[in-house]
Amino acid sequence: MKKVMLVTGASRGIGAQIALLAGREGYKVAVNYLNSEEAAREVVKQIHAEGGEAIAIQADTTNPQDVRDLFQKVDDQLGTLDVLVNNAGILKTFLVEDINAHNVAEMFNANVLSVFYCTREAVLRMSTDKGGRGGSIINMTSVAARLGTMPGGVAYAATKGAIDAFNLALSKEVGGQGIRVNAIRPGLISTEMHNATGGIAEMQERARAIVPMGRAGTAREVAEAAIWLASDSASYVHGSVIDVAGGR
Ligand code: NAP
Repeated sequence: MKKVMLVTGASRGIGAQIALLAGREGYKVAVNYLNSEEAAREVVKQIHAEGGEAIAIQADTTNPQDVRDLFQKVDDQLGTLDVLVNNAGILKTFLVEDINAHNVAEMFNANVLSVFYCTREAVLRMSTDKGGRGGSIINMTSVAARLGTMPGGVAYAATKGAIDAFNLALSKEVGGQGIRVNAIRPGLISTEMHNATGGIAEMQERARAIVPMGRAGTAREVAEAAIWLASDSASYVHGSVIDVAGGR
């Protein structure tokens, strides 16, 4: 039987690569997006072209009702969820002295509360205590959680530190319910996320200087780790964080 994977924020970047690889691995894939409808449809089209199964679903993961509707659509159109990848996230930079109720809440809504809302729905479906058949949850954190970032990145780093703690505590809460919980900590990865700061070219130049491997990573390289963590090959990997960061 084909397994079902939901990837949040799968229209672009790392999420899109996870969705594409999952389609190739034989998962039925739910490609969630916020604004990039065309890009999400392109990901679905590519999965179909390779003989896979996928649907695109618009939902704002910061909105609890949207999240409930998202999971209901997955139930109705693909079947019982096996894997949730909490990938959607944003990067906005501002100095601590410029923090206000809006900008800091926006970061925590997008990168932390959204993960709570999605995980809640996943646990309700996967938990063997609730009649589910177990599953796997993968959380996308960042090396920013343990290294910090450039000035302006305090809020981003703090949201990812919260995801590190969430990952560990959740693994203890649901490990006995058939749900494996793990995280991936990417380093500098070439995606449009860096348009929020100096752009991809500038990030790649920085990567050449500060990454031991001397280059930025690709979204595909992060996706490979996610597919492995989701697979039965990682059946005893739980509460772990895999760094995909070129040695940083
Ligand atoms: P990206 O290219 O900017 O893509 C972000 C994705 O998240 C898009 O598909 C976007 O959807 C979606 N998204 C954002 N807010 C959303 C919301 N409220 N609801 C639903 N979807 C939403 O980012 P990326 O670089 O692939 O990053 C993916 C994850 O990896 C993030 O959690 C990020 O923090 C983490 N990460 C990235 C790097 C890096 O260097 N790139 C490093 C460490 C960690 P739309 O396109 O529809 O707006």
